[in-house]
Amino acid sequence: MIKKLLIANRGEICCRIINTAKRMGIQTVALYSDADKNALHVKMADEAIHIGPSPSNQSYLKIEKVLAAAKTTGADAIHPGYGFLSENAEFAKACADNNIIFVGPPIEAIEAMGSKSAAKHIMEQANVPLVPGYHGEDQSGALIKRHADEMGYPVLLKAAAGGGGKGMRQVWSADEFDAALAAAKREAMSSFNDDIMLVEKYLTQPRHVEVQVFCDHHGNGVHVFERDCSVQRRHQKVVEEAPAFKMDPALRAAMGDAALKAAQAINYVGAGTVEFLLDKDGSFYFMEMNTRLQVEHPVSEMISGQDLVEWQLRVAANEVLPKTQNELHINGHAFEARIYAEDPDNEFLPATGTLHLLETPPESKHVRIDSGVVQGDEVSVYYDPMIAKLVVWDTDRERALARLSQSLAEYRIDGVTTNIAFLRKLIDTQAFKDEDIDTRFIEKHHDEIF
Ligand code: ADP
Repeated sequence: MIKKLLIANRGEICCRIINTAKRMGIQTVALYSDADKNALHVKMADEAIHIGPSPSNQSYLKIEKVLAAAKTTGADAIHPGYGFLSENAEFAKACADNNIIFVGPPIEAIEAMGSKSAAKHIMEQANVPLVPGYHGEDQSGALIKRHADEMGYPVLLKAAAGGGGKGMRQVWSADEFDAALAAAKREAMSSFNDDIMLVEKYLTQPRHVEVQVFCDHHGNGVHVFERDCSVQRRHQKVVEEAPAFKMDPALRAAMGDAALKAAQAINYVGAGTVEFLLDKDGSFYFMEMNTRLQVEHPVSEMISGQDLVEWQLRVAANEVLPKTQNELHINGHAFEARIYAEDPDNEFLPATGTLHLLETPPESKHVRIDSGVVQGDEVSVYYDPMIAKLVVWDTDRERALARLSQSLAEYRIDGVTTNIAFLRKLIDTQAFKDEDIDTRFIEKHHDEIF
């Protein structure tokens, strides 16, 4: 087993990983920037190393500093969390070159899924269903437009290197195409330094359903069911749940099989998420594969009774998967709400300030809070302004939803503007209760929510 684990991350995910490592008897090393000197993740770890100024490109994203910290402390493994270096093949390679276990998939798998276009080519070969579209190398604007014209509008332009909803543009008619392509390319270039584009049929009422997969080094693979992440704002997830609603066992099995086929196509090892769009008629299409632990993994843990970080660490240490598919069962229903320091009344602008008051609902088998901040902490401009992930569980969706509603009502935060009132209104809509949800939910119910 791993003896000493360095977590190349901060905030809630670093704390969450430390908790599991501690339970497994693994020593932990945290990193911190200037802004994080007194952060919870630093206090929780056995050791902590300062790695530079507050901006992440001078600290948490500096490969050489992270590796130096691992060497200084004698860490034999690095968990990258999500974001930061988690899907950086160069970082995974640097770990291997230094004989440090990278708690993540093989370098080749990260590379293969790093480009949405390349990923779609691979999935096409593996017979995983794709959204109709063009993802070729020839990037002539006229050619991309011809594909869009042939498919018919609306279409969605996406940056091959994209992530976080950046470099995406909906195009509703042919005459908007050229301007949209230019704008998407500009955004992709400034965000990813790469403006290769692909175009897909824009599905107007799909759900975002993703499958949690897990593979070990010994040829075993399972899926830990699915999550519905359809409630989104600007293509970013807001509330997630597991299992997905309105899923019959046949569809669940078909999506699970497709996800495992996708993982096997790239010889995947570790935790991965295969994202699909699920259309009204029950057809589903591969969108992309995320080669890391997802923000929303706790809902899968709540319904499966498994600790996915423990699974990651065991797989990284070359053990076989803790469970077979037949040993995994869905128990109840879970929701996750992302509590953010942001202002819903002002374009969701990130908010900063001191958390003068932070009172949370009591934790229990029904309520789990993953957070990296405590009362008195500062929410700074430097990082993602997430305050906590509120995760609730109960025996069915209706009861779990009542727990979510109650827990959100119990939160007391002062000093920083949050999205809690927005979340409460969102989950209180009749449509949310009725499972009448697709990816444009927030747009459709704007007047009820705002
Ligand atoms: P990113 O990597 O930037 O998050 P994704 O490809 O994962 O981008 O897509 C993000 C979201 O955009 C999806 O969850 C879905 O809501 C929406 N989306 C993506 N592709 C399509 C499509 N072809 N039709 C409709 N919505 C889409």
